[in-house]
Parts: sequence; C-alpha cells; structure tokens
Amino acid sequence: MSNRSQDKRPLTVIIVGGGIAGLTLANALQHAPADITFVILEARDSLASRLGAGIALVPNGSRVLDQLGVYADLEPGFDPIVDTGLIDIQGRPLLPERTDGAKLLGIRMSYPLALVQRSTLLHSLERHLRPGKGGHVLTGKRVDTIKQDDAGVTVYCTDGSSYQGDIVVGADGVRSKVRQEMWRASEEEGIGNIDVNKERKAMTAEYLCLFGVSGPVPGLGPGTSDDTWVQDLTVVAYSGERGKVFWFVYARMDRVYEAHEMPRFSAADAAAFAQKHLDVPLRPGGAVRFADVWKAREVETMLPLEEAHFEHWTAGRVVCLGDSVHKMTPHSGGGGMLCIETAAALANALCQLAAETNCSNLSKPKDSNGQGASKSPKRPTLSQIEAALRGYETGPHNLHRRAIENIKASGDLGRLSALRTLAQRLLVPYLVPVSLDTRVDLFCDMAVGAPCIDYLPIPPRSTKGTMLFNPSHGMGKHESRWKRAFVALPLVFLAVGFMKVVTGLLPVDNIRQVLDSGVYHPENGGASVNLVPGIYGISLVDNLSRIHNLEAVVAREKAFFLMLSFFADYGVWYVILLIESARRANYFSILAPAVVWGSAQTWGIAYVASFYRFLHYVLSPVSKFDALDMRLTDRTYTQIVLPAVAAAHYAVYLTGYLGPEPYRQIAGHLWMLFPLFLSLGQNVAVRFVLKPSTVSLDRLYSPTRDMPVIRWTILTLVAFSAAVWQYTLWCHDQPSIACVFVPALPISSGAELSLEAAYVELLKWDWAGFGASHFIWIALFAWDLKAAGMARVSWLVLGLCAAGVTAVGGPGAFLGLAWLYREEILAKRRHKDAVGPKTC
Ligand SMILES: Cc1cc2nc3c(=O)[nH]c(=O)nc-3n(C[C@H](O)[C@H](O)[C@H](O)COP(=O)(O)OP(=O)(O)OC[C@H]3O[C@@H](n4cnc5c(N)ncnc54)[C@H](O)[C@@H]3O)c2cc1C
Repeated sequence: MSNRSQDKRPLTVIIVGGGIAGLTLANALQHAPADITFVILEARDSLASRLGAGIALVPNGSRVLDQLGVYADLEPGFDPIVDTGLIDIQGRPLLPERTDGAKLLGIRMSYPLALVQRSTLLHSLERHLRPGKGGHVLTGKRVDTIKQDDAGVTVYCTDGSSYQGDIVVGADGVRSKVRQEMWRASEEEGIGNIDVNKERKAMTAEYLCLFGVSGPVPGLGPGTSDDTWVQDLTVVAYSGERGKVFWFVYARMDRVYEAHEMPRFSAADAAAFAQKHLDVPLRPGGAVRFADVWKAREVETMLPLEEAHFEHWTAGRVVCLGDSVHKMTPHSGGGGMLCIETAAALANALCQLAAETNCSNLSKPKDSNGQGASKSPKRPTLSQIEAALRGYETGPHNLHRRAIENIKASGDLGRLSALRTLAQRLLVPYLVPVSLDTRVDLFCDMAVGAPCIDYLPIPPRSTKGTMLFNPSHGMGKHESRWKRAFVALPLVFLAVGFMKVVTGLLPVDNIRQVLDSGVYHPENGGASVNLVPGIYGISLVDNLSRIHNLEAVVAREKAFFLMLSFFADYGVWYVILLIESARRANYFSILAPAVVWGSAQTWGIAYVASFYRFLHYVLSPVSKFDALDMRLTDRTYTQIVLPAVAAAHYAVYLTGYLGPEPYRQIAGHLWMLFPLFLSLGQNVAVRFVLKPSTVSLDRLYSPTRDMPVIRWTILTLVAFSAAVWQYTLWCHDQPSIACVFVPALPISSGAELSLEAAYVELLKWDWAGFGASHFIWIALFAWDLKAAGMARVSWLVLGLCAAGVTAVGGPGAFLGLAWLYREEILAKRRHKDAVGPKTC
C-alpha cells in the first residue's frame, strides 16, 4: 500500500476508525463484487475493547447486519424487548398498563427491538472480517494528518507510519480527526468549498448521560424496558443480552454547550451524579429503584450528548460517515443504526465506483481469497471519486434529510422525556396514556426507508413482516404535505364555492317570518303545519333545530325524492366518516373526532364534507399504511357502526320524513343532533355492553380482522342507497329526473325566491356539491393508489366503472363501493417499491 507507483491496483480505501461505522463498511466492502481493498486504522489497541453502553438493535441496522451474517451471531444472545413500562418520579404509571408496543416492531419489520453490549456487536463485526478478503485491520494507529492530491491520498499516523490510497473514510466518531482534516484542506487548499466556520458551530450538547451495564437485577425481568420521566431527568433500563441490564440516566446540563467547550466527566463526577439519583424509581411504587441497578453495575461512563448534523460529508478524496457527521442523542436508540445504514450506502457508492472504473468485474463475485477476476483494474480519477462520493451524500436515499430527521426525532424524544417545557410537564400525564404505539411508529419511520447493501441478497426474513422496507418511504422521504394540499385544492374551492352558494340561497327573512309565526303555510295552499317550537329546552340549540326542522318540513313537500336520495347517500358517507375515525392511522389526527365533523354538517353538507375530504387526503398518504395495522380499526367499535347509524340517522330521518305528526317534527329536531347521540350511544355500548376491545391483539396478529365487518357494513348501506336511487329514478314526481336533482342556473339569491323555491335550490346545490366532492376525493385516492402501483386499472376503466355504478346505484353507492375498493387494496396490496418476497 505504501507504493503509489502501482497504477494498476484495486480501489484502495483507508478507513479511519474501527467503531460500528468503520467495521460495518469494512464488512460490506469485503463482499463487494468489484476490486476494492481496504485497511482499517484504529487508534485503540483492540477493536472491541470499548466497554460501556448497550446498543439497541432496530430494524434499519439489523437488516444490514443480517446481510453481513452478523445478526445471526447476535440473535441467540438477546431477549427481544416485549414489555415496556413508563412511570413518573413518584413511581406512578404514566401508561395505564405496560405496553407490548415493542413486540409490534418485531412483527411489523421482522427484526425486534433488542439490546446487546456494544462490545458484543463490535466483536461480531470484527469476527466477520476475514483476513485477506479485500482488506486488513491495524490497531494502535491514531491518524493525525491527511494529505491529498490528484494522484491519491496519504494518511499519517501519530506513530510515524503512513498509508496511501484512493479514498479516506472518516469513521472516527464524534471528535473526528478526519472531519477536522477535511475542514483544514478546505480552508488551506480550497478542497471541498466548505463553510468551516458554520460547520464548527453545528455541534451542541444540552444533555449528559450516565450509562452502563449491570448484572441481573431482581424485579427487571428479561425482555423488559422501563422509563422514568422526571423534569430534566430521564432514567431508562433495558434488560437484554443474557439477563444484563443496560441503563441510561439522562440529565439536562446547566446550559447548552458548543463543540469547543464540551465538558468531560471523570469517574468521580459519574459516581457523584449517580448518588443524587439513587432513589429514582424504575418500577411502580419504587419496587425497583436506580440504586438497585447501580449496585449491580459492571461498567459505567458519563458523557455529554452531542447533537450535530454537518452539511458537508465529503471533500475531494475524503468522506465521513457515522457519528463524525451525524451525531444524535441516544434517546431513540438509533445513532449506531444510522451509522450502519450510512455505511451500507457508502459501500454501495464505492462498489459502483470500482465497478465503473473496471466494469468487467461488477457481476463477478470475489473468489475465496476476496480477489476479483480482473488482473488489471484501472484506478479512478479524482473527478470520478468526487462524483461517486457526492452520489453517496445526495443519492436517492437522501441521507442528509434522513440524518437531520433522525437527529431531530431523537432530540425531541429526549426533551419530551425530560419534560423540557411547561406544556410537556402539563400535558404528558394526559397524552402519554393515549399515545399508544407512537414510539414504535417512530422506530418504523426511521427504519422503513433505510438503505441496505445493494449487491448482497435481501435477507428473506426482512420481507416477512407486516410492514415491508420501502426505499422510497420513511424519514427523509416523506411526501410533502404542501404538495398534497396543492393537489387537493379543488376540494377547498368546492367547499368555499358551495358554502357561498348555499349561504346566498338561504331564505333568511322568510325563515324568520315562518319561525316567528310558528306556522308553515305551503305555497300551493295545502294544509298548514304547526311547527314544533323545540324539544331540547336550550334556546340556542332549539333555534338551530327549528331551522332544520322547517327545512325538513318544506323538503318533504317540495323535494321529497331529492331529500330521500340525499339522506340515503348521507348514511354511506357518515359510516365512512365513523370508520375513518376509528382507524389506527387517524387516532391522533383531526380526522378522529367524527362527532365534530358530523355536528358541523348543520353548516351545509357539501361544505363540511369537502373540507373534511381535503384534510383527509392531505393527512392520508399511502405511506401511512405501510404498516398493515395502521389501516386497522377497532372492531368492537366498527361492528356497531351500522346499527348505530341505522338507529341515529336512518330511523330518525325516516320517521321525520314518513312518520305521523308530531313524531315527524320531533324526529326532525332530533336528527340535527344525531351525531352527538350516535357518538354517545356508541361509546356507552363499547365501554359497558360489548366485549373488551380486541384491537391491541388484532394489531399484532390479525391486522385485517375488521375487514368482514367493514365489508358488510358498507355493502348493506350501498344496497340501501342504490335501492333508494332506483326508487327515485322510477317513481319521482317531476317531469324529468334532471328536475329532481339539477339546480337552476344562473344561481339566484335566497331573497329573490320564495321560501320553498329557495329551499329546493339550496338542497339541490348542497346535493350537487356533496356528490362532486365524492368524485374528486375518490379520484385523488385512485391517483395515489395508481402512483403507488397498488391499483393497476386504467383511468378509462375506472371512469367507466364510476359512471356505471353511479348510473345504477347513484352517487352514494359509488362513494361506498369506491371507498371499499380502496380499503381492500390497503388491506391486501403493497406499494410498488416495497421490498417483499417477490421483489428480492
Ligand atoms: C450513551 C449512548 C448510548 C447509545 N445507545 C445507542 C443505541 O442503543 N443504539 C444505537 O444505535 N446507537 C446508540 N448510541 C450511538 C452509537 O453508539 C453511536 O452512534 C455509534 O457508536 C457511532 O459509531 P461510529 O463508528 O461512528 O463512532 P465510534 O463508535 O465513536 O467509533 C469511532 C472509532 O474511531 C476511533 N478513532 C477515533 N479517532 C481516531 C483517529 N484519529 N485515528 C484512528 N482511529 C480513531 C475510535 O477509537 C473508535 O473506535 C449510543 C450512544 C451513546 C453515547
């Protein structure tokens, strides 16, 4: 390696640092089907000598380790985390019960959350490096200076030795010498055009962490994790590999420190810090305290927790990876895993570079000595190297964005768990108990779009979960909500337009007159109707429901068939609203409170439905359903949607329409608040009458268990809606069907029309707006599903089906069937980029 005159030699990579990042890269390179040779220069005397913390294995890293054969070494030694508890400083549970969310991670992504000792992982990575297979490891080599030119790069160590190669990789951790040398080269030689002053300020630390490993602690069983959240302090204990307990005590420091002033802590500092927190409970009521863990400790360390994302990862022939360029706090347990995935991405780029400069070797795996088939590889030029390294940084995996989002997510979690703000202190006790699987969702979001080693086979295991890896989804690759909002703007225009039309048509003065007189005299001279003044005894509510009742009374006389069809379609829509509100993916969104959207319908159905659908579209990208269980609804709730809507909407409306007086009008008043009654009834039934919810089991073992209920609920209402539509088509009392539904143009004002004419026009516009928003909404979903490769039907076929279904069953039947079609697709098909059994 010291002779630079060899022009015909493999791509030579010098890896500085034999930590998680460096060893993963070396392991990946030794499998590369191209001529690459490497050397690891590690400052310490032994690669796996690092004691200290446990390291959480999460799926993005585990999959790459599986590709390298390392995961199989680790798995027999750990108990996956399956049982998690969270308490406050008084030892009171913040979760209503211990959660099995961590189990969900393993079921979704095939690799469980598990803790191993850092040294175990390093040992295993080292063991998989086979001598002579493309590279070797030198310990006791502390890199000091790096010099690069057009011909190559030379690395000088503090012991006087030097090494030459094509590329230097800085995998030397948070205080990276390679990063400093990269900055120096930029400042002194103009390599890389880096704003060094800005980069120097990129690293800060607000928290410190005392962490260590203890022997078994009575009361902390295998596969458990326990968090205690206190203001400015978080204590976490995982019991993992061979009964060992891996623990972390995070505390906020007196201020935020910058890189040049980062504090160092001695063993005495660590012991003094621990003494202050011995009483912190880890199990409810203090059954286990930090003192128990501390007593059983084997090793401990205290460090500041740096957070940094550096804008430049490469300059000339130098490239960095791992903590040297993306440093996050350990709260999300993802720092090392991010190192593994960036190492995989860099290995891909280097392999590609070596292959491009020696194309014939790409498809030929190395022989048992790690040698490629070609005897005369060419060395890449500086510009080829720069392009390849830029490709690593800015390539399709969007590593910078992923790193930024990972760092932020981990920091946010840390601050939340240390109850950093007043709002967090006030809200955490209320929000955490209902936060369900949000931490698992975070892990999955970190993992799902992670790169792996492109030239090694995808491990079959990684394709078996209920959430498949997908290189176009996850952190750093989220679809822009603004883009979705822009695409869905027609729904907003529709909402605003129809609100304007409907408000303009509302015959305010006529309504007031009739309500004041308390009697409605039909224009055609039919029998007068004495209006029921109200049934609620609350004037505000009664005044509103009187308006509604009058509308129903007039509609019955003047727009019987229109309203009959409208209400049948409305039932389909309302059931969809309720099912969407019960979906796991929507638990914490504005889409969850169906009762709010239902109650808002008094402002005009077209307006509210369009606005809801706009938000729904923006908040429901296909990627939200990457995990099958996110589509799932709570079956206990979903199964009473149909009876509840039948009782609260259909029965009440039909009574109001067809029943005898005075029940008609009472029903008319009742219908206005039906969403409230329905929601109350459903909640009472779910809590007190029906069996306990099965959703927490279903999310693990049966994520499509609610589908039969959803199917018969929607199909029943679709059949009813279609029957009403057919009845309307054949039995209406107007000269043509258009006269039943189609509003007049130009649009009149309510003040110009009689009460009845205004109401009829208003209802026609409301119906038309409601129907138009069905079609836009469904078209948007079809667009999404087609783009995701989940619906393979052409637009022509979709259009013909929509027209046919609407002609036969009306807009309500179309809405129900189209929505159900989407539901079936979400339950059965995977995104075109998902790495499933068929794609590997
Ligand atoms: C308390 C704590 C808990 C953590 N828990 C987790 C977790 O649960 N899961 C997880 O995924 N991540 C975790 N992390 C993060 C994870 O440990 C790091 O992200 C990861 O170890 C960084 O790997 P690296 O290879 O980039 O750097 P390092 O592990 O720091 O390795 C750098 C290597 O370079 C060597 N080196 C340094 N300078 C030179 C030089 N000049 N010349 C030659 N060699 C040099 C060092 O000796 C070292 O071996 C945790 C971090 C901390 C602090």
